[in-house]
Amino acid sequence: MEHTPLETLTTCPICGGNERAPSLTVEDRSVSREAFQLTDCRACGFRFTNPRPPQADIGRYYQSADYISHTNAAASLQDRIYQLARKWALGSKHRLIRRYQPNGRVLDVGCGTGEFLAYLKSRGYLVHGVEPSIKAREQAIANHALEVVPNLEMVAHQERFKVVTLWHVLEHLPDPRAHPQEPVRVARG
Ligand SMILES: [Zn+2]
Repeated sequence: MEHTPLETLTTCPICGGNERAPSLTVEDRSVSREAFQLTDCRACGFRFTNPRPPQADIGRYYQSADYISHTNAAASLQDRIYQLARKWALGSKHRLIRRYQPNGRVLDVGCGTGEFLAYLKSRGYLVHGVEPSIKAREQAIANHALEVVPNLEMVAHQERFKVVTLWHVLEHLPDPRAHPQEPVRVARG
């Protein structure tokens, strides 16, 4: 992959603190094989990638064939273990939601290939998804006939949801503090 300049954050994305200490150096083993420096905020302890790929370039770090193919028929032992773990995780997320809302409209932000929404749909919920990755979104629509839009702005303002979920989402957002302010009120994530 060709080299692209990384962007360096001068303040902590959580608390705005500007004192940082270098932490681990880690390798992206799933896609790019590039090494990244992690940084600890001295004020709040938040650990983040810094410097990091700019937003314009972030998409290619998610282009893993595995990331998508995990949703398909089991092949290797690793895939079978993954599918078992996912089945368990879907059930446990459903139980968590059912305690508060046994039915109704659910919005899953960052719904990926739609497995979680399909699971909820099969149990009587009315489901909607947001997913920026076009590949994942197309699979969610094709495999599960789900309603999925690319971003939160495309969810109509008059829409109301009983449950909004963000699974494995916050750690992928460039500015996690900006998102809960958006039109959808987020109660848990
Ligand atoms: Zn901080």
